[in-house]
This record gives sequence, C-alpha cells and structure tokens, in this order.
Amino acid sequence: MGTVMAGQTWQVTPIPPTAATETPDNAHILIVEDEANIASFARMYLEAAGFRVSHADRGDTGLAMAQQHQPDLILLDLMLPGLDGYEVTRRLRGDDATPIIMLTARDDAVDKVVGLELGADDYVTKPFNPRELVARVRAVLRRADSSAISKSQPRDTIIQIDDLRIEVGGREVFVGDKRVALTPKEFDLLVALIENRGIVLSREQLLEQVWGFTFLGDSRTIDVHVRQLRRKLNSSCPIQTVWGTGYKVPAKR
Ligand code: CA
Repeated sequence: MGTVMAGQTWQVTPIPPTAATETPDNAHILIVEDEANIASFARMYLEAAGFRVSHADRGDTGLAMAQQHQPDLILLDLMLPGLDGYEVTRRLRGDDATPIIMLTARDDAVDKVVGLELGADDYVTKPFNPRELVARVRAVLRRADSSAISKSQPRDTIIQIDDLRIEVGGREVFVGDKRVALTPKEFDLLVALIENRGIVLSREQLLEQVWGFTFLGDSRTIDVHVRQLRRKLNSSCPIQTVWGTGYKVPAKR
C-alpha cells in the first residue's frame, strides 16, 4: 500500500463542487477604504481569487462609483473622508440591494450593530485574515445570488396575517395600505419565521437560514433585526420572543 508505480493509472474521484466554485468568479467588488495599505491588501487577495476590483478612497466617491457602476458587492470602511460608511449605506439602501460588507474596527460592537441595522449584510473586523475576507465575500454573493426565499416561494405568493400583507415575489410589505420599507435581511428573517409558523427557531437556526452557514457574526444580529421589525411593523409584527430559545410566529388560529 502506498507505492506509486510509474505509469500507474489512477482512479480520480471527482471533488464535489464546493461553495467557492459556485460563485461567479468575475463578480465586481468595490472597495471603499481610505487606508491605502488595507485597500491594496484586500484588492490583492480578491483579485487572486478571480474577482474584478475597483477602489475608492473616499465615501462620496465610493457612493458615486457604486451608483454608476453597480458592483456586485461593496466592501465598505466606516471611517471615511467625504461621507462615512453609515451614510453611504443609508443612501445606498434607499432602494438598492447591493450586498455590503462593512469593515469595522476590532471589537467595536456598536459599529457592527449599527451597520447591520442600516442594512449591511455582514461585517469583517480589521485587521482581517485575507482568506476569511474572500470566504465572506463569496458567501454574501452566493446568498444575494440565490435568495432562498424567492426560490422556495412562487413570485405571486401573498402572505396575509391580520393587517400585515407580504408580497413575497416583489419583496414588499404592507401594514394595511401603508408600504413599510424593510432591509433585505429584515424581509428574509420575517419570511423565514412565517414559513415556519408555529415552530420556535433558535437564533443560530435563523442565522443559518437567513445569513448562511459562513456568517460568523453573533446571535445578537438576530435580536437587532427583530427589534427593527417590531419598530417598523408595530403591533402588526407577528414575531414572538420565546425566552431562552428563540423566536416564532404563532400558528394560525
Ligand atoms: Ca478609514
């Protein structure tokens, strides 16, 4: 066993496609970062992974480039000249679902929570491991590419819970006649809970279902999004807290 003979024929076992091979390799990533060494470090690894990369070193320039070139994903620093990362996110999130990964300072939990509340998809803490960065970029692109919600529900599905109406295909939510603007993740979280009506889902299950396996953020992300949903939907929010376990939308009566 173990001796390789010259000319020996090997049976090649195909490697199952991994997550990495499913992503579009030529996706366009916009880096908005004013620290030149961090930007070039990220660029080098992303380009080596096959992505097309452009770079802005100011928030206002980054916003303009994002609007003009429609990148597939934005890697966004928070502290930026011109316009900070929060404001860039706020302006981009008007009606745009371009995935955003925020670059945050180490251990700054407030930054992360605020960033997620504004609609960022994920965050990476600086200084980052380049392989982790590439993995996060791929994971977020993959989720953006194949929203589990739009796959599992026909486009014309309408969910009605009392005065809350969700048009799943159009990703629109109404309370009575009033349209409520939700971020992509708030919408996915709400629909994930409704699709599992009557079942308690733990924060970890929700992270896995809505953010994907590779999201390394903590479970507080879920609490932040539930809090936002309750604030936006008021008494029409059907989500109940199950103490010590997670969240659920109660079964139909
Ligand atoms: Ca900065």
